[in-house]
Amino acid sequence: MIPFIDLHAQLERIRSKVNARMDQVLDHGKFIMGPEVKELEERLCEFIGSTHCISCSNGTDALVMALMAYGVGPGDAVFTTPFTFFATAEAVSIVGATPIFVDIDEQTFNIDPQALRRAVEQTKEAGKLQCRGIIPVDLFGLPADYPQLLPIAEEHDLFVLEDAAQAFGAELDGRKCPTFGHIGTTSFFPAKPLGCYGDGGAVFTDDSDLAAVMESIRVHGKGSDKYDNVCMGLNARLDTLQAAILLEKLAIYGEEIELRQEVAGRYTELLSDVSQLSTPYIPDNSKSVYAQYSILVPERDRIQQILKDAGIPTMIYYPTPLHLSTAYKDLGHCLGNFPVSERMSCEILALPFSPYLKEKDQERICQELATAVTA
Ligand SMILES: *Cc1c(COP(=O)(O)O)cnc(C)c1O
Repeated sequence: MIPFIDLHAQLERIRSKVNARMDQVLDHGKFIMGPEVKELEERLCEFIGSTHCISCSNGTDALVMALMAYGVGPGDAVFTTPFTFFATAEAVSIVGATPIFVDIDEQTFNIDPQALRRAVEQTKEAGKLQCRGIIPVDLFGLPADYPQLLPIAEEHDLFVLEDAAQAFGAELDGRKCPTFGHIGTTSFFPAKPLGCYGDGGAVFTDDSDLAAVMESIRVHGKGSDKYDNVCMGLNARLDTLQAAILLEKLAIYGEEIELRQEVAGRYTELLSDVSQLSTPYIPDNSKSVYAQYSILVPERDRIQQILKDAGIPTMIYYPTPLHLSTAYKDLGHCLGNFPVSERMSCEILALPFSPYLKEKDQERICQELATAVTA
């Protein structure tokens, strides 16, 4: 059986180092905000070229902390796409604001800058909500179109909160995610490109004031005196043990990003003759970290079943665009509102992927796939 994500191959590579790191934590006993947390934050900043990193409990809380730092709340509009993991929009709703969905580009699956411009103008004209910010998602590991998005944000005085839960270390014009937004977030959920062995996340910013506010929010809105809280916050720290594990994962992550390019390149090559499929589009100036290798395929559900019967696991990210999810029925959207997202949710299929996917497994996957679509 081919694993969908081979986390075990990675573990075998780093097991002794991870064990040694965990033993150190067990010995010093500083399970909350131990020295590994600060060390990790420094290394993460170095890796992507950011000034401040505040590690935290998960990628969802990272988004919530950022929105809280901006004081986003009821009556505010925040723009994002319906073709993402639920948490992106959920964070907006959790702080009481309204997510305004904007359709995606059909090639990159990322937010469509022209559609964004129209949505902002319409929302301003309607005059009911105050336009506050944009959450572009670097979906499947590919940076969003920041050269187009940032000027729109500037023109309309919107913050850009980059959701790079799937794209830590991806690149656009030689710069790494998540450094494109005023604040960037990531997730260390085990299945993400850089994952820990539990929940984890981080926010990044070059803005010292925002960093200080988020650091306070991370621990119950603490002030300089631990028992004089200055605002409402969360309990959103990253465990020391997870930081220790991440230090060893980060040490090999640069190399793994290159392995990800090789594995993706091999898929694209092997599938190039199968005209019914479309493989991921990566713009020339970008480097994806391939959180998913997602193809578009007609009769997707039939193909998925054939692959399943052949022992090849695949996943659908995402089967329901968020505007059609039950939790957002009150927003009053219907089928047809975001046609690109809706079409992708019917055709998209993520293939098994990890830096350690074996060449012979990959060949078998592509053979089965080619046979299935031509049958
Ligand atoms: C995984 C993910 C999140 C949430 O991260 P968690 O660590 O699971 O809370 C947010 N946004 C996107 C795009 C994600 O893929």
